[in-house]
Amino acid sequence: MDLFEYQARDLFAKHGVPVLAGEVIDTPEAARQVTAELGGRAVVKAQVKTGGRGKAGGVKLASDPDDAVEKAGQILGMDIKGHTVHKVMLAQTADIADEYYVSYLLDRANRTFLAMASVEGGMDIEEVAATKPEALAKIPVDANEGVTEAKAREIVEAARFPAEIADQAVEVLQTLWTVFVKEDALLVEVNPLVKTADGKVLALDGKVSLDENAEFRQPDHVAFEDKAAANPLEAAAKAKGLNYVKLDGQVGIIGNGAGLVMSTLDVVAYAGEKHSGVKPANFLDIGGGASADVMANGLEIILGDPDVRSVFVNVFGGITACDAVANGIVQALELLRSKGEDVTKPLVVRLDGNNAELGRKILSDANHPLVEQVDTMDGAADRAAELAAK
Ligand code: GDP
Ligand code: MN
Repeated sequence: MDLFEYQARDLFAKHGVPVLAGEVIDTPEAARQVTAELGGRAVVKAQVKTGGRGKAGGVKLASDPDDAVEKAGQILGMDIKGHTVHKVMLAQTADIADEYYVSYLLDRANRTFLAMASVEGGMDIEEVAATKPEALAKIPVDANEGVTEAKAREIVEAARFPAEIADQAVEVLQTLWTVFVKEDALLVEVNPLVKTADGKVLALDGKVSLDENAEFRQPDHVAFEDKAAANPLEAAAKAKGLNYVKLDGQVGIIGNGAGLVMSTLDVVAYAGEKHSGVKPANFLDIGGGASADVMANGLEIILGDPDVRSVFVNVFGGITACDAVANGIVQALELLRSKGEDVTKPLVVRLDGNNAELGRKILSDANHPLVEQVDTMDGAADRAAELAAK
């Protein structure tokens, strides 16, 4: 999960990374009071989850509270690389003498963490990496050792940070590593890290990406979720504890096991080529249990997707045998009907594996008008795609 700058700033402040005071607002008028509280001047910054806000006109200096109202009015509603600005952060202004770059990230290819640092801060770091690679120091960080003082000095020296800020930079680097570890981040980036005219080092912009797999031990992180931007179907699925991802096709997919569901997406996309190009509408793994409740929850989400025109239920019976899954499907359809939710979209079911015969018989006996069975995965994908194309 990527954070907004103001959220990153809050995390930095919590762990002691030097930042300037700031407050986030969503109406221009609110800028007056906040700017007065910040000392009469402020930098007005668009809060969007993309870089290059400065270049796009999303970062402006305001010289007094009225000016801040005007600047906030210009920035709110602005479109920056396809992101509409709904909030701006007002922050204390800094008298910048120099701008640097520092970041930590997970380097998957090399199975390590990586520190990056440069004296070419403030600008697009991808451009620095491409045109002046020697100006971007890259130092691996061992997860077990972390950023010790010695490691921080190594980074500072490799980046050739000026001697007069070296000690402060070492401290900031160690504190940022604490943020990275304690918050279960995958990326912590500060661009620019600045030296002010009076020689202080400050983090003026922050980009943080948190590892959602660590949610279970980071209860505070739910507060960072951008509810307004979340897909409503994904949010509903999450509330029901389902592994669901919305895609943009027409064939709803339910399967057991992430590997099977992923290959089901491929097979449906392939079959769809022959049927007006229909595609999978989602990823949904109902996991091992496949009880009637889980099946009903899954069907409810998928049938509630207005893009869905047919559903492919692809189950390979393992520890949970096909007869249990078949009963789950029958009960789920009843459950939905009893809740007054009409099932009007055709379901193609393929059952294979443990107790497949019995499972198929249960579905045939139930004789639901919208459920049809196909014994092979390819055949079922083709039928589901054909129904979606109708
Ligand atoms: P980005 O363009 O999205 O990365 O946004 P930044 O927050 O990095 O801001 C872009 C640039 O605005 C920085 O590199 C600074 O040069 C400038 N800037 C940001 N805050 C201040 C400030 O308080 N004072 C001054 N003078 N410039 C600032
Ligand atoms: Mn920046």
